[in-house]
Amino acid sequence: MSTDNGYVIVGASLAGANAAQALRAEGYSGSLTLIGAEQDRPYERPPLSKDFLMGKTGRDKLFVHPAEWYGEHDVELRLGTTVTALDPGAHQISLAGGERLGYGRLLLATGAAPRRIDVPGADLDGVYYLRTVGDSERIRAAFAQAGRVVVIGAGWIGLEAAAAAREAGRAVTVLETAELPLLRVLGREVAEVFAGLHAEHGVDLRFGVQVAEITGAGGSVAGVRLADGAVVPADVVVVGIGAGPSTGLAEAAGIATDNGVVTDAGLRTSAPDVFAAGDVASAFHPRFGRHIRVEHWDNAINQAKAAGLAMTGQEVSYDRLPYFFTDQYDLGMEYVGHVAPGGYQRVVFRGDVPGREFIAFWLDEDGRVLAGMNVNIWDVNEAIGELIRAGRPVSPEALADPAAALESLAGG
Ligand SMILES: Cc1cc2nc3c(=O)[nH]c(=O)nc-3n(C[C@H](O)[C@H](O)[C@H](O)COP(=O)(O)OP(=O)(O)OC[C@H]3O[C@@H](n4cnc5c(N)ncnc54)[C@H](O)[C@@H]3O)c2cc1C
Repeated sequence: MSTDNGYVIVGASLAGANAAQALRAEGYSGSLTLIGAEQDRPYERPPLSKDFLMGKTGRDKLFVHPAEWYGEHDVELRLGTTVTALDPGAHQISLAGGERLGYGRLLLATGAAPRRIDVPGADLDGVYYLRTVGDSERIRAAFAQAGRVVVIGAGWIGLEAAAAAREAGRAVTVLETAELPLLRVLGREVAEVFAGLHAEHGVDLRFGVQVAEITGAGGSVAGVRLADGAVVPADVVVVGIGAGPSTGLAEAAGIATDNGVVTDAGLRTSAPDVFAAGDVASAFHPRFGRHIRVEHWDNAINQAKAAGLAMTGQEVSYDRLPYFFTDQYDLGMEYVGHVAPGGYQRVVFRGDVPGREFIAFWLDEDGRVLAGMNVNIWDVNEAIGELIRAGRPVSPEALADPAAALESLAGG
């Protein structure tokens, strides 16, 4: 066993790579090991359901750092290596194969994994989940062969996969239990925009349906049977019913978890010298006064950098507003802020909603902006963030008026 007191990062993806970068940028010069279960060095996942899935961009464009970056920064990258146990008392981890490794400080950046669908036929050939570069390559190949694609779940990944399948010229059906896509995250007003977008692009959207079974023929998928008995024929099924945080290591180690590894605003877990960041972390957010877990690219970068700082002993209070983006067909958008499901009073639109060139603002009962989404309008996201951070009521008329500069509204 190594008795090294160096720093170890578990999870070699976006958060892990950014934490390693921050540690070196902050002058940490001790040993640094980045351990990941996947075979590929850290890469970005957003293209996996967009340009990469559509074959518009190559593998070489996905990586967070060039291969030589790790050696140049003295980061020991151990790929294809699963950490099987964490012993916070002994400051040790165990690797698959039995090796044990000591650490001085450790970052859990184990991310999230797709929720599995639990119906008969879920294991048939032709049923896919989308998380890794390999998944995306397999789905792309399947789209090239398939006539009919069924997507289960109208969340971000389901909708992006549906858009990619349409771009590949496939007949696409999306099955969703809720009344609209993204209803819990966006609320009815903006969820309707996404329903309209996909309907216009020829997607057969079925809302309020339950999947009862994935049917097969000769071991391969043949269709999806709904609870009402209807069968939707399919050559390929993509399941996008959400992801859950990979908390197994932390739980077994007795570290506090609650929909993620619980941390304070300084990204410290309940175990000494163990930090968490990225999709796996449920971090206390000073602005919202509670723990939130954010499953988005920007958080994996910036929260992980903050965790790197915290690991060097700096005082950190991570209070960045959640931010994410999507691209579907000709719709590109950015969203900033945070609204719990149903946690807003009204939505105010500025711009052309049917033409899909607008900003949506989610307001609370006092007229404060909680979140904003700019759709096909650019360079306004920072100003929307300012409105949220200002935390003052804003006139809905001014918000709706394209002539009123957003920057001028933050002052109240
Ligand atoms: C298809 C797809 C599209 C997306 N598109 C967008 C988008 O458009 N906009 C946006 O904002 N966000 C998007 N996201 C979300 C974004 O990619 C994630 O928020 C980000 O990848 C989280 O990074 P992470 O490092 O925290 O976790 P992950 O990327 O999940 O990485 C965790 C890593 O830890 C490894 N690991 C787990 N357990 C162990 C262990 N015990 N031992 C060793 N290694 C382990 C895993 O194998 C994995 O490689 C998308 C995600 C997906 C999957």
